[in-house]
Amino acid sequence: MELKQLYREIVNEHNLHPVNRGKIEDADLVLRGVNPSCGDDITLYMKLDGDVIKAASYDGSGCAISQASVDMMVDQILGKNKEEAIKLAGTFMGMIKGEITDEESIEALDEAAALQDVAHMPARVKCAVLGWHTMQEMLEHPEKAQENK
Ligand code: ZN
Repeated sequence: MELKQLYREIVNEHNLHPVNRGKIEDADLVLRGVNPSCGDDITLYMKLDGDVIKAASYDGSGCAISQASVDMMVDQILGKNKEEAIKLAGTFMGMIKGEITDEESIEALDEAAALQDVAHMPARVKCAVLGWHTMQEMLEHPEKAQENK
């Protein structure tokens, strides 16, 4: 199978059969992320155990890229600590903007690396980074994410 086709299938799979969609009623952090240029609108939920991300999920709606990306993002941050998750968000956004291209960095993103081609579709960049940006915002500014509770 061609790599690009494989990537498309990974994106499709997360879009059609999301594994992390849902609401966490007793979440420690809740933050909404909106991309008006496409109409993507998500809310991210997170439970922390000290610095470790114990549970996370999202709900909302949006295009296939935004939904697949946030679903993959949650897979990648579960069990990680805040610092690691923020670093991963930086790597993902760097990859999508075409600023990070070395294999070693991109491998750290696991399945989310399937969205690397979005770097060549400027109109979709905001869709791809929405979930990751919201996660980073939530962890760096938890005061914003608690107001919504
Ligand atoms: Zn979108």
